[in-house]
Amino acid sequence: MTRPVTRLSDIAPDVLRDLAVCHGVCVRPVLSRLTDTATGQTSVVPIPCGATQERRCPPCSGRARKLRMQQCREGWHRDDELPEGGGEDQGDELAGHEGEGDETDESVRRVRSTRRRQDVPDLPRLPMENRTVGRSFTAPNGRTYRPSMFVTLTLDSYGRVHRDGTPVDPASYDYHRAALDALHFPKVVDRFWQNLRRCAGYKVQYFATVEAQRRLAPHLHAAVRGVIPRQVVKQVAAATYHQLWWPACDRPVSVGEALPVWDEPAGRYVDPATGVLLPTWDEALDELGADPVARPAHVVKLGRQLDYQGIIASAEDQVGKAIGYLTKYLVKDVGDTYGEPDEITPAQARHLTTLHEHVRWLPCSPACWNWLRFGVQPKNAEAGMVPGQCPAKAHDRHHLGLGGRRVLVSRQWSGKTLTEHKADRAAVVRATLAEAGVEIPDLDRCSATATTDDGTPRFLWSPVAPGDDDAPTYRRVMADSITEKVRWRTEYERAKQLIRPPIHHRSTTKPEPAISAA
Ligand SMILES: [Zn+2]
Ligand SMILES: [Zn+2]
Repeated sequence: MTRPVTRLSDIAPDVLRDLAVCHGVCVRPVLSRLTDTATGQTSVVPIPCGATQERRCPPCSGRARKLRMQQCREGWHRDDELPEGGGEDQGDELAGHEGEGDETDESVRRVRSTRRRQDVPDLPRLPMENRTVGRSFTAPNGRTYRPSMFVTLTLDSYGRVHRDGTPVDPASYDYHRAALDALHFPKVVDRFWQNLRRCAGYKVQYFATVEAQRRLAPHLHAAVRGVIPRQVVKQVAAATYHQLWWPACDRPVSVGEALPVWDEPAGRYVDPATGVLLPTWDEALDELGADPVARPAHVVKLGRQLDYQGIIASAEDQVGKAIGYLTKYLVKDVGDTYGEPDEITPAQARHLTTLHEHVRWLPCSPACWNWLRFGVQPKNAEAGMVPGQCPAKAHDRHHLGLGGRRVLVSRQWSGKTLTEHKADRAAVVRATLAEAGVEIPDLDRCSATATTDDGTPRFLWSPVAPGDDDAPTYRRVMADSITEKVRWRTEYERAKQLIRPPIHHRSTTKPEPAISAA
């Protein structure tokens, strides 16, 4: 029926790229050579790049987002307990949080500060029940409801902003605090979950995404299993803070005229003007710990603004909408909040640049090269460290402080890793196609674990270099991938029709027998 119009491989690369995007084909595949040692057959296989950011690869990031949506959906309203230990470990660790959650941070452990700040209210504490599932409620009509929550946490204000996200008064806008808060946002969020569990009295599970507000500050959307009174969530958010027990980083220390230089014999950085060695990271922390009046370098607090919505499992449209909202901007970097460069207003460009300047020069971690600005040697220091050029992505214009994970999932959410969720999706497609007699290659089956009779690995993967004899051109790869994708899609749609004939009217007659593939 379909007639080839133009050979796909004759199309210009940029058009081919657009076409690939239309058909959901990865635009920057990585070529791998697959050798089947049992048959001696070799083939070059394009492996999707797997990018999660749209600017890198729209189809791959779109698929990654869909996977996250599925993960979110599967865990949200669970009504049974999962065995512990499975699922995705996103740094959310329940055990060991009996005491102060700050203890997770090594620098805090060293400074050993139990100095609680006085300006936060004490939180109520309930005995911890051994459950992750929320309570259900029975209505007078006998129906059972299992409500959950959708919560949004924001950071504090740094100064008033316009609707476009830019400061009303850029001169007084607190960029320094905004930058430090963004760099340490995950820590205060972690703290929030610990506090919430303590106050709620059960092992609260969540699927959360970190996204940017118009003012370019990160905020957190979270699907939470079970329901906790709004007042408690509010109280917990108000009382949650993270103290950064680091050497001071509010003002660059003048270490002579020039930057510290690496002293090879000493294996340390030294102030070139005075010849004095910079304190190591550990020495700096010891000094901090010994100082009875030391104050944290920074305190991250959550803002007063808290959005809270109760969501019932059976309200499918509500659930779907919330999941869409939760994952909407996952494919965008913080720096892309205002859109493409030609869509950004001058005020937004200024705001972005100023925030970036702060984020670029502040320390991101104990090992950050920027510590050399503050008279401290970075942890695990070596030659070649230059302030302002720390390689951590938190410092760049795309990330604006948010260099870490954008999705935070608690351990007992869906009980599956992302790879397992992915396999689920692929299995559905494969099963549908197999039903119609179409078999698509299962690359996972060609994994390193498959062996031949004598126990050696059956499939060998090797990289394909551009100059290799069997290396196809980009055009060839893309053209083939698109053709194949179109064929699978067509087959898949046809297979679905065969398995589930469209229902035109409700009837009690027996369903029509499935027609076999013609
Ligand atoms: Zn891709
Ligand atoms: Zn850094």
